[in-house]
Amino acid sequence: MARVYLGPAGIPIGAKERKRSAGTIDGIRYVSEVGLNAMEVEFVQGVRMTREAAQEAGEVARELGVRLSVHAPYFINLCSEERDKVEASLTRLQESLDRGEAMGATVVVFHPAYYGKLGPEGCYNAVKDGVLRIIDWMKENDIKNVKLGLEVMARKSQFGGLEETFRLVKEINHPQVVAVIDWGHVFARNGGSIDYRAVLNMWREYFGDQPMHTHFTCVKYRKGEWVDEHEPIDTNNPPFEPLARELGSEDIEITIINESPLLEKDALKMKEMLLKYNNVLVGLH
Ligand SMILES: [Zn+2]
Repeated sequence: MARVYLGPAGIPIGAKERKRSAGTIDGIRYVSEVGLNAMEVEFVQGVRMTREAAQEAGEVARELGVRLSVHAPYFINLCSEERDKVEASLTRLQESLDRGEAMGATVVVFHPAYYGKLGPEGCYNAVKDGVLRIIDWMKENDIKNVKLGLEVMARKSQFGGLEETFRLVKEINHPQVVAVIDWGHVFARNGGSIDYRAVLNMWREYFGDQPMHTHFTCVKYRKGEWVDEHEPIDTNNPPFEPLARELGSEDIEITIINESPLLEKDALKMKEMLLKYNNVLVGLH
């Protein structure tokens, strides 16, 4: 039985239908009302939230028992050949971490890099350097709770295979740096297959019983390859139910953020499957 935090990637669709200008706090309330207990705050197009707004959102989330996390901007590449792009990437991470800390988020997830001309090994070192600089910055700025999460990526041109991500996080070995599994990305990068049991075993091997932060979405098959385009979980690529079943026999804490286009609807379908295999949603029935 896994202890699960489950919710949408961003403000639920229902909250926006109810109120067109729904913000983060409306989203958190909605998540709690429908019976979920997590939400990822999306800074994917840029960090446009003040520190005060982040604090307020954090207070509401704490009151309602909703676990918050943050997705950092997409425009990050720690392996860029252009120095100013690397610097801008670090700034975006710092802004995201600052707001994440203010809202009491558990983790700031980011897409580390494209291999580019550096290639896998050079990029590995560049990502490591960038993360080490962020660790220093967190220390200097009293960011001591929120974690930095390196996401496992879908494309072969991106840094972020399962093995290299785990290896780097393990090598850095800092309590505020974690690996974030995106189950859909693992499936896509692996040519349309995933062995959940093997991934969970690999997590144990590297990180023991450390809580997991993960994303789930189904992805699309187009022009002969699996691409990172998000599809509803009914499309079953990959299927969610076998993951729910495997988690049923795990004694671990896991957050699952639904990134399918049906944000809260699919999260609620996942909830049903998780409960069917005796998992527990923390704070909910
Ligand atoms: Zn992502």
